[in-house]
Amino acid sequence: VRTTAQWADFGREHIGRGLGRLRDHVIVKGEGMELITADGERLLDFTAGIGVTNLGHCHPVVSAAAAEQVSSLVHMQCSIMFSAPYLQLIERLLPVMPHPSLDSFFFWNSGAEAVEAAIKLARQATGRQAIVCFQGGYHGRTMGSGAITRSKTIYTQGTGPLMGGVFATAYPYWHSLGVTSETPEAELVRLAEHHLDMLLRQQVAPNEVAAMIIEPVQGEGGYVPCPPAFLHHLRAVCDKHGILLIADEVQTGFFRTGKYFCVEHSGLRPDIMVFAKGVANGFPLSGIVSRKELMDKMDVGSLGGTYAGNAVACAAGVASQEVFQTGEIEANVAARSEQLYNALHALKASPKTGHLIAEIRGLGLMTAVEFRMPSDPLTLSGLAPNTHVPKDIGKRVQQYCLERNLVTLTTSCFDTIRFIPALIVSQEEMQKAIDIITAAVENVAR
Ligand code: PMP
Repeated sequence: VRTTAQWADFGREHIGRGLGRLRDHVIVKGEGMELITADGERLLDFTAGIGVTNLGHCHPVVSAAAAEQVSSLVHMQCSIMFSAPYLQLIERLLPVMPHPSLDSFFFWNSGAEAVEAAIKLARQATGRQAIVCFQGGYHGRTMGSGAITRSKTIYTQGTGPLMGGVFATAYPYWHSLGVTSETPEAELVRLAEHHLDMLLRQQVAPNEVAAMIIEPVQGEGGYVPCPPAFLHHLRAVCDKHGILLIADEVQTGFFRTGKYFCVEHSGLRPDIMVFAKGVANGFPLSGIVSRKELMDKMDVGSLGGTYAGNAVACAAGVASQEVFQTGEIEANVAARSEQLYNALHALKASPKTGHLIAEIRGLGLMTAVEFRMPSDPLTLSGLAPNTHVPKDIGKRVQQYCLERNLVTLTTSCFDTIRFIPALIVSQEEMQKAIDIITAAVENVAR
């Protein structure tokens, strides 16, 4: 029998360093908002497994549905026959699609695989090859999804050549455009539109572009909501040139941003939508949805995979939708996100801590604070380096929180910390986290 410390040693010994980790805690149980370690310590989880367990750990309705499915049918390979939960999940998702044209599904295991399926669909349906993606975007770490991931070089460094035919353009985010954090949104949109225009004039002809892929709120790139005006511009450019628009809702879907799908905030109509994470509350399940007429342009057999749309994962997906469709989650996200944003804005307004903060960002409970960096002149409206702010504020805040049993994540290649609690978080749990976060930022400012 190994002690917890010995298990951690064992993990370090037998798991390569390619898999980074925040901490070597050994987790044995998840309960609602809490993770419980092998030593019985309870951690308040503001990561939700990177926006996956939106209904909290081991939600009783989801776990019961999965347990029942485990004892009736675990595996029915999707290229051999239908499984009942596969069809039931489609039935549950159809009425909540952001647009009625999205009526044809394919389920996969992970977000990256679903992104690749979306690219295959776009290429087969259009007969074109080029894919336009955005700086700061994250779509996965495989050879295809990694090729369109532009949030950090580390994800694909030393592994190329990756999938070809990819062109990246600026996202309407001040870092991406080389302007200050105070730049008005309309100006960010204008500049990003200009960069896209230049790309389509100088690098790839629009009639060679199969698809553009965008996250309606950039996730790993720093929780940067895309201004609706830019999304509508993309829609217009795509319509003009017969380009398909792919919305990557892997992290933003299933009420993370306050609506079932994030594109509902802007009214954007994607041609293809990619989803994963929140769909089955932790069971490995992802998918794409598009128009039947587009999906039917794919060659028979060009989609598929042994575990794709696994029966237990789909049953968990059906149960998750039942819970989402009660309306309680939507109401809670509205109330709890207001509570959190108020507290974060108070930190930015405070003379004690405000000078550390460049921006409070996010939508719903996809929330982030970007700190100023000593080396980056653009985080202040003046052009002098910010010598009065310390380095790595996000990491220091995260460390302070972790020492008080609040688990958070950093994000982006700049100095950003993000808060992604399960969407069932109570007012008290949110307040507890806010008190710790506030103390953490004040501690850095001291
Ligand atoms: N797209 C987005 C927007 C994501 O946030 C992620 C995961 N963080 C992915 C794709 C890849 O999903 P997975 O890790 O399940 O492959």
